[in-house]
Amino acid sequence: MNSKVTIAHGSGGKMTRALIKDVFFKYLGNDILDRCDDSAVIEIDKGRIAVTTDSFVVKPIFFPGGDIGKLAICGTVNDLAVSGAEPKYITCGFIIEEGFPVTDLEVIVRSMAKWACEANVKIVAGDTKVVEIGEADGIFINTSGVGILKHDRELGVDKISSGDKIIVSGTIGDHAIAILSKRKGLRFESTIESDCAPLNKMLTEVIESGAEVKFMRDVTRGGLATTLNEVAEDVGILINEESLPVSEPVRGATELLGLDPVYLANEGKVIILVKASDEAKVLQILKNNEYGAKAETIGEVTEENVGKVCLKTILGVTRIIDMPTAEHLPRIC
Ligand code: MG
Repeated sequence: MNSKVTIAHGSGGKMTRALIKDVFFKYLGNDILDRCDDSAVIEIDKGRIAVTTDSFVVKPIFFPGGDIGKLAICGTVNDLAVSGAEPKYITCGFIIEEGFPVTDLEVIVRSMAKWACEANVKIVAGDTKVVEIGEADGIFINTSGVGILKHDRELGVDKISSGDKIIVSGTIGDHAIAILSKRKGLRFESTIESDCAPLNKMLTEVIESGAEVKFMRDVTRGGLATTLNEVAEDVGILINEESLPVSEPVRGATELLGLDPVYLANEGKVIILVKASDEAKVLQILKNNEYGAKAETIGEVTEENVGKVCLKTILGVTRIIDMPTAEHLPRIC
């Protein structure tokens, strides 16, 4: 095995087979993938499936709290889970730049295997392409995910009504600050780690509790501000700054860098909009889970200010939180 990925590894010939066998199958193999068919054929029960796709171009590919492989699995899993589905199958396409170290590729693939196992999903199909030096930046990963809905509940922004409570599953901004600090070589008093995590088991518990959940969304690129604005189409939203969970190190970093935590990306956080009478139930399920220990109710849906996200500051002033207009931090995921 060469120590670097070469154009021949993407040729479809002997070298490709060797890379697939020695790296991908070694860690990701399972009864479906091992068949090496042109597509994965899977038995499913009657009912609904959820399908999603995502691409991962994060820079740097290794960062505190994760790597591009972990991100690819967790990001795909979370998109399925917030739709109320149980994530089951993932496909992944790798676009690799010639010269990429095989050892780094192995670390990434091993990480994908670890997090796929943790999230109880199988990688059932994959593809590898190698492009010449300068035509990509190290490695890009594209995934598709399939999940199964085991219930007939329907979640959606159209289910939201005034009085519903808005819960966030934990501290915000950790992922963005972790990436930024690694990229720019910034040092803070303590290492800030990405919150990248698979949330499916926790969210399944929320759904199975019978709580009247109206809508869920993972709070990723563009941060809480973006996600809440996406929700505030036909309703108003009022958030209390005081209840926004932000860790001390992230708070410190944002003050230093002049950033607002509500605009920062996360990779292991979700907002849950729930009927007020079920707020405590959902909050308790989240708090009992390692990925939701810092969950808080941050606000509610209002009849007033339709289409707007309002934030009541610690000083008691209300300001509008707009959708970000520019991409401040490209290649965050
Ligand atoms: Mg999403």
